[in-house]
Amino acid sequence: MMRIGILGGGQLALMLSEAAIKLGHEVVIWDPSADACARDLGVFINAPFLDQHALSTFLQKVDVVTWEFENLPVELLCTIQKSCRVFPTVPLLQIKRDRFTEKQHLQSLDIPVAPFYPVNSIDDIHSFPVILKCRYDGYDGKGQYRIQTKSDLDGIKDIKNIVIPGTFIAESIIAFDHEVSIVGTRAQSGEQVTYDLSYNNHRNGILHTVTVVSDSPYHSSALSYLTRLMDYHDYVGTLAIEFFVVNGALIANECAPRVHNTGHWTIEGAVVSQFENHIRAITGQPLGDTSTQGYPAMVNVIGQEYCHSQHTPQKGVYVHHYGKQERPGRKLGHITIVSPSAVCRDPLIKQYQELSFVL
Ligand code: ATP
Ligand code: MG
Repeated sequence: MMRIGILGGGQLALMLSEAAIKLGHEVVIWDPSADACARDLGVFINAPFLDQHALSTFLQKVDVVTWEFENLPVELLCTIQKSCRVFPTVPLLQIKRDRFTEKQHLQSLDIPVAPFYPVNSIDDIHSFPVILKCRYDGYDGKGQYRIQTKSDLDGIKDIKNIVIPGTFIAESIIAFDHEVSIVGTRAQSGEQVTYDLSYNNHRNGILHTVTVVSDSPYHSSALSYLTRLMDYHDYVGTLAIEFFVVNGALIANECAPRVHNTGHWTIEGAVVSQFENHIRAITGQPLGDTSTQGYPAMVNVIGQEYCHSQHTPQKGVYVHHYGKQERPGRKLGHITIVSPSAVCRDPLIKQYQELSFVL
């Protein structure tokens, strides 16, 4: 048994905690928000991340530390590392926190990315169509502006005030055929396992549906990029990379040094989930079997809670509620479908897509 400290107490911490408890561990959740959804699964520390008293309490209670999201103070992780093991690797988190250094890093490892450049003022924007992306703290498409032509720039209210030096990159808009992501886990021994590829659909910049494809022609190339990134960092834990597929080739969009929304289907759709494998990796246990079971898919429940009572539960359909307050655009839960065939699965995906509203 180990005491696992998790920085952040949202839905990823919730599912990580469930996996840890199943393996016989205890969890200590640290989150500044009082209503963090993982708060009841173990010891809960409710304090800002730079609170020194909270830090010493946390350190007394944990044997190993991980996180559920990247936007953490790096100085906190460096301090924790002096007295406790922290996984995954802090340098990759530091690189990933800034989209500019993230893309430079992927490029330096010969992992293709869309053309990009830093934007310090609107006069720097010289290619169209383009997406402006904030460098820090972005998620679910927040802090992104699509600009088709130079004259569109004038239409964005306050754009001059928004583009503060050092806070944006410009990225070419990619006309992709698909969006896919690979999720895998690497152990302390260097052993690596990987899941089947997820094909992802977004609505309003938010991940909405994932369909798992077991014989994807892009798997081997996605796996070689994942392995390159993991090996470079001597990575321990679960890692995801999102890609655009263009004319059969992969362009990396971003990486996530943690468990990932496009891997939630693995709870019921794989023998051992991305969450359990992350916990196995950081606690030094051998990794579990990542084989896909049946034909899985996942639909995020966004903005408005899916009301379970109105619908008869169906075989092979698993509803996860995170227990969060409803708010427009917020991920409140997800629904995993595991069907005996693709023919059975596809109508179910449509049915649940219609039930999970985007407000
Ligand atoms: P998330 O938290 O969902 O991963 P994010 O805020 O980190 O989102 P991105 O992953 O960069 O943002 O972008 C969200 C979505 O917007 C992408 O999955 C894709 O559908 C679209 N998108 C982002 N960049 C591009 C691009 N360069 N060309 C075309 N579409 C893009
Ligand atoms: Mg993304």
